Amino acid sequence: MLAKVKSAAVIGIDGFIVHVEVDLSAGLPVFSTVGLPDAAVRESKDRVVAAVRNSGFDFPSRRVTVNLSPADVKKEGTAFDLPIAIGVLAADGLLPLAPMGSHVLIGELALDGRLRPVRGILPIALAARDEGAALILPAANAAEASVVQGLTLVPATSLEQTIHYFRGEWKPEPFVAPVRPAFVAPEGLDLADIRGQLFAKRALEVAAAGSHNLLMIGPPGSGKTMLARRLPGLLTPMTFDESLETRKIHSVAGLGSGAIFGERPFRSPHHTISDVALIGGGTHPRPGEVSLSHNGVLFLDELPEFDRHVLEVLRQPLEEGSVTVSRAAKTVCFPARFMLVAAMNPCPCGYEGHPERECVCTPTAVRKYRGKVSGPLLDRIDMHVEVPALSLAEITEEPPPSEKTSVVLSRILEARARQRARGVLSNARLSGKEVKAHCKLDAPSKTLVKEAVSKLGLSARSFDRILKVARTVADLAGSEPLREEHVAEAVGYRSLDRPLTQSLF
Ligand SMILES: [Zn+2]
Repeated sequence: MLAKVKSAAVIGIDGFIVHVEVDLSAGLPVFSTVGLPDAAVRESKDRVVAAVRNSGFDFPSRRVTVNLSPADVKKEGTAFDLPIAIGVLAADGLLPLAPMGSHVLIGELALDGRLRPVRGILPIALAARDEGAALILPAANAAEASVVQGLTLVPATSLEQTIHYFRGEWKPEPFVAPVRPAFVAPEGLDLADIRGQLFAKRALEVAAAGSHNLLMIGPPGSGKTMLARRLPGLLTPMTFDESLETRKIHSVAGLGSGAIFGERPFRSPHHTISDVALIGGGTHPRPGEVSLSHNGVLFLDELPEFDRHVLEVLRQPLEEGSVTVSRAAKTVCFPARFMLVAAMNPCPCGYEGHPERECVCTPTAVRKYRGKVSGPLLDRIDMHVEVPALSLAEITEEPPPSEKTSVVLSRILEARARQRARGVLSNARLSGKEVKAHCKLDAPSKTLVKEAVSKLGLSARSFDRILKVARTVADLAGSEPLREEHVAEAVGYRSLDRPLTQSLF
């Protein structure tokens, strides 16, 4: 007898329906799977046989043929255990065939028949909903799948429970999704908690308001990481679609549970990271850190310590907002639109320009160190700012009250609204044409820019970036025309454009 069961798989971050056909025929008891399954699917037959027996059923001693289609896509993983086991029992006449068409089944089986959670449940849940089918899934995956609206979930803990379900002997409790509070920036990550650093805080505000990539330069302990950690709290609340897309990526990477829906990701990989881990890839392509940061923040601390090749691969996502990973059989595209925030010391020893400690670096060493971040990557960073060491007074005296994140965020939201009203995504993403249209300079600001260009030896690219940042400064001030003070502030966010002979501080 032939049984047809539905399951699902994931390519990139998208789920699709997989049809599992199980045929039982007379002959030697051989269990074979066809449809290009990889090693994991072949191994699944051992788990399926054990799980069926340990759930109190005989495994049919006939020829079992399992076909997974579509056959032309390589399927991976252990998630087909449950549909194969149910298909075998249905083909053996132990379960009714009729309800199989209206269910999608997914789950890995332990040898004792318990259901284990699988990776990528969110795209699978979306595929099940589009198929108009109920989703039978491991109970441990239910919360992650429950963000998908309009889908019936049947969370099961074991193969036995699933069998009882199809026999009408067990009815699942209606699944109640955990209450999802609106996301609020976590306590203890408020801008007001950081002493001093008014200039850097203002730079963070401008960066957040225009989605400008930001590089902070300062000695160890000056608070660069603390500042970066507060950036997600300064970004606009995530829309449902943004949240869903980000969660899909995390789901495929196996990081689905735990994160709060609507929380902008903050990822800070160590500088020893490989290019595959940063960008994504592998035999079964998985998203890298740039995609895990999608719609959030990617923080690269100690930027010059990253491998040069690793930094070079950042170019594609920074330009295109996505990463294309090609493998022999397929090409997969992962979204990767993030704000890049990087930090570095001013010199190898870290104390160049420090008020109390002496820098021991030679000018050549400093040049070499800063040279590591020059070129194509630096070209994509709109703002580079100094975060100097705090003075003794700033450390020891009670600091003046500082603005809270919520106050700064309200200015940012207004600046964002001005950008949207102009029909642009963000000032950082203005095209050349849009820069001409929206960043017109009046006479005094033209003079100021000309002076800056000749004094600092700015390139044409730097010039464009100054205009974009000046646009954001003006948006924060609620001003449509770009004025001299807006341009002057933007010029101040180009530390690394200054000749090396000039101290950064
Ligand atoms: Zn030094």
